[in-house]
Amino acid sequence: MTKHRWEHAHDWLDHRFAEMESDIQTQLMAVEVDDALITFQRLRTFSKELASQLDGDQIQNRFQSDMDADGFFDVLIKDEYPKGECPDCGEDIPEFATPGESCENCEHVFTESRPNDD
Ligand SMILES: [Zn+2]
Repeated sequence: MTKHRWEHAHDWLDHRFAEMESDIQTQLMAVEVDDALITFQRLRTFSKELASQLDGDQIQNRFQSDMDADGFFDVLIKDEYPKGECPDCGEDIPEFATPGESCENCEHVFTESRPNDD
């Protein structure tokens, strides 16, 4: 049986991540910020390549709680209101406002699919 440095492809992946982590650590300690950013971009490209092999369900199954915390499943209400404005005071509703949030100006509480509630 032949012997290889890495037994599984996952071990190689882990090695690549560890190598980039080590590079970033070294570069940051040497205050080589530009180099650290370049290494980070390599890490990002590498991760994107891996992620491209997953479908939406696989990503969601693995990262559901993180996605939830980031607001992935939140319903946005701005477009539910005429001109995207608060019905009470006319203040522009923030782009990512969700049901239950209130107007920063008058504290009107925004709701889903009920743009004309008084
Ligand atoms: Zn308002």
